[in-house]
Amino acid sequence: MKIAVLPGDGIGPEIINQAVKVIDKFGLSQSIEYGAIGGAGYEESKDPLPETTLNLALASDAVLLGSVGDWKYDKLPRELRPERGLLRIRQGLNLFANLRPAVMFPELVHASSLKAEVVSNLDIMIVRELTGDIYFGEPRGIQTKENGEREGINTMRYSESEIDRIAEIAFQAAQKRSKKLCSVDKANVLETTELWREIVTHKSEKYPDVTLTHMYVDNAAMQLVRDPKQFDVIVTGNIFGDILSDQASMLTGSIGMLPSASLDQNNKGMYEPSHGSAPDIAGQDVANPIATILSLAMMFKYTFAEEKKSQAIENAVRQVLKDGLRTKDIFSEGTKMIGCNEMGDAIIERLDI
Ligand code: NAD
Repeated sequence: MKIAVLPGDGIGPEIINQAVKVIDKFGLSQSIEYGAIGGAGYEESKDPLPETTLNLALASDAVLLGSVGDWKYDKLPRELRPERGLLRIRQGLNLFANLRPAVMFPELVHASSLKAEVVSNLDIMIVRELTGDIYFGEPRGIQTKENGEREGINTMRYSESEIDRIAEIAFQAAQKRSKKLCSVDKANVLETTELWREIVTHKSEKYPDVTLTHMYVDNAAMQLVRDPKQFDVIVTGNIFGDILSDQASMLTGSIGMLPSASLDQNNKGMYEPSHGSAPDIAGQDVANPIATILSLAMMFKYTFAEEKKSQAIENAVRQVLKDGLRTKDIFSEGTKMIGCNEMGDAIIERLDI
């Protein structure tokens, strides 16, 4: 088991420290090796993804990432900005499948902007394609037309094999859950997603135990706030997934609770919280480390197939919430506010290993 740990910037090092404590508690300290990414990479070697870090990630089974970005790097050329390191490592590792669960913990139901009955017990998983679609399609750019007017161009593009491999991951995820998969597209308007629908439908023949439905993206956006519990696993392309996964995550009320996994064909993965580097609260010991710790739980589940460890972490997080302990972002009256470090310790105390 070899895990590359990349703390990154802002609150990254604080929240990663808490996840590393969990790794230590499992007796796996020798499995980890640290690397620099984002602003930290730039400081180390004037590159947001230093070669040593990419090589470390390539040689590891999994990557645990904190977060990247700081306003102080906003004036750097685009290629040197911290976020560029993130895109490059995703590409370098060929992480084409992004898994983002949105789970509502009973204790936090009132943190959602939706009515409690709409979101209580919510547990959905969005599987987003991450390396294709309009974000990467060529041609792209801004060009000047003959009449002197400028136009912007991006190209929505998916090949059959790209759709097939993300569909495979989504069907497998659905098989491990409630066996319901909803594929989201815009097949009534876009040929690219007409092909998407055809390939996903074809894939369903291999998974007769999974019930496949299709939904247009505009309807999916509505249904996610009207009746999110109708969904179990949603699979969709890069741009629709970008938007829908953020929307779904907000149903649960707090960004500090949401893990994510990005996988390649062989279940090698990069695991990171869904939030950013929160420079506004960095270094104050107030960040919520739960999203990062739950990302570690996903790592044990998806890359290492260690279901027991994964479950133990999830149970410890649930217990901490039951015991009324909260970081500032999820604090409510009648609960006890604790810091990032203390939250890490509280989770470890409740880890049943
Ligand atoms: P952000 O997610 O960092 O912060 C948004 C808000 O949520 C802030 O008020 C922040 O304090 C709060 N927040 C975020 N995580 C929290 C946590 N764990 N606990 C408590 N509060 C938390 O988004 P932003 O402010 O738009 O971006 C800040 C920087 O992060 C930018 O440089 C951006 O490019 C970068 N970013 C990185 C990633 C990533 O590393 N994957 C993702 C998004 C943004």
